[in-house]
Amino acid sequence: MSKKDLFESPDYYLIDELLTDEHKLIRASVRDWVKKEVSPVIEDYSQRAAFPKHLIKGLGEIGAFGPTIPVEYGGAGLDYMSYGIIMQEIERGDSGIRSTASVQGSLVMYPIYAYGSEEQRIKYLPKLATGELMGCFGLTEPDHGSDPGGMETNFKDKGDHYLLNGAKMWISNSPFADIAVVWAKDENGKIRGLIVERGMEGFTTPETHGKWSLRASATGELVFDNVKVPKENLLPNASGLKGPLGCLNQARYGIAWGALGAAMDCYDTALRYTKERKQFGKPIAGFQLQQKKLAEMITEITKGQLLVWRLGQLKNENRATPAQISMGKRNSVDVAIHIAREARQMLGGMGITGEYPIMRHMMNLESVITYEGTHDIHLLITGMDITGEDAFK
Ligand SMILES: Cc1cc2nc3c(=O)[nH]c(=O)nc-3n(C[C@H](O)[C@H](O)[C@H](O)COP(=O)(O)OP(=O)(O)OC[C@H]3O[C@@H](n4cnc5c(N)ncnc54)[C@H](O)[C@@H]3O)c2cc1C
Repeated sequence: MSKKDLFESPDYYLIDELLTDEHKLIRASVRDWVKKEVSPVIEDYSQRAAFPKHLIKGLGEIGAFGPTIPVEYGGAGLDYMSYGIIMQEIERGDSGIRSTASVQGSLVMYPIYAYGSEEQRIKYLPKLATGELMGCFGLTEPDHGSDPGGMETNFKDKGDHYLLNGAKMWISNSPFADIAVVWAKDENGKIRGLIVERGMEGFTTPETHGKWSLRASATGELVFDNVKVPKENLLPNASGLKGPLGCLNQARYGIAWGALGAAMDCYDTALRYTKERKQFGKPIAGFQLQQKKLAEMITEITKGQLLVWRLGQLKNENRATPAQISMGKRNSVDVAIHIAREARQMLGGMGITGEYPIMRHMMNLESVITYEGTHDIHLLITGMDITGEDAFK
């Protein structure tokens, strides 16, 4: 059972002054919700590798599902700074819960909003915004992860419907999702998006067990065995890899903020613990080696906060490039995973228990550094952007 959640966010460079009152209000309300609803239960769900389904309604109520989707479709109509702040606060609680929100908002609602028909928007978005319907995003396949363009999942035009075949792997939310946005190749080899609904014959979603990371997030497969998909379920306005990559841009932006939330929680926990824990007759925070770790943590968090704040500005102005978003995602997750590893040591034996959130964050971040483009893939994106040379192949 976790201790009472006393989290306070660090603000070493007075970055709060760069936020509007609305941003701060949103942050306070999401933080309160996380303290009240997530922190008291998350350790238990994580230990049992179970998804806390009862949190879905609350996530909808705080506007975590599709914060930037216009109000007319049930979204919160907020700016990208607000979206980032919401992800930061949720991931401060747990990366798995943030993953659920990211998938729903950025990978399911966003493609339906950006690439869908008006009928599809009206049919799905309001229900996805409240969590009445839950979605998942199927891009990765057993043999195609970092290179999704090689995907084998495909569909054929059968006159009055499409026939979908193939399999997706590592799909967040798949075991309980009502709908899946699935990326598959048409007969010309073009990647298109289809909305597949639970209950369609031949569509199954087996759960993936045995994860040591993101244990409070449900992960599974999507298996399509001659699934008849109605023609109106094709997303009309996405063709080629830029369809799914556009969604990933949205989600990666959220992760750039979110991972810093996990980093802040680890730093805050370590700071509090080392000020209270005494060895050799004094608080361990008084030892230089502990101070070095804390000082480096707050430096990296502060640099990260400035980076995502500027990225948020660029995103609001529709000027953030995919490569800039890659840099933000890669940097924040790298900062967070290092801080989690250091903070865990600073708590000594207590650091490996569920009494404190650090070990959970640390294990969660192993997924976050892998999904939505691995650490190395984002480095290659930056490398290609600055040199003009493609080092992927
Ligand atoms: C918990 C979890 C949840 C996920 N949720 C989703 C989801 O909801 N939807 C979805 O579609 N996917 C999801 N994923 C999949 C995730 O996006 C992939 O795992 C990721 O893209 C990496 O693919 P892979 O695992 O096949 O690794 P691989 O692509 O096989 O990579 C293995 C290693 O090779 C490296 N590598 C690959 N290519 C190169 C290269 N050109 N140069 C140098 N190094 C290279 C990688 O960096 C990595 O270190 C999830 C994954 C996890 C773990």
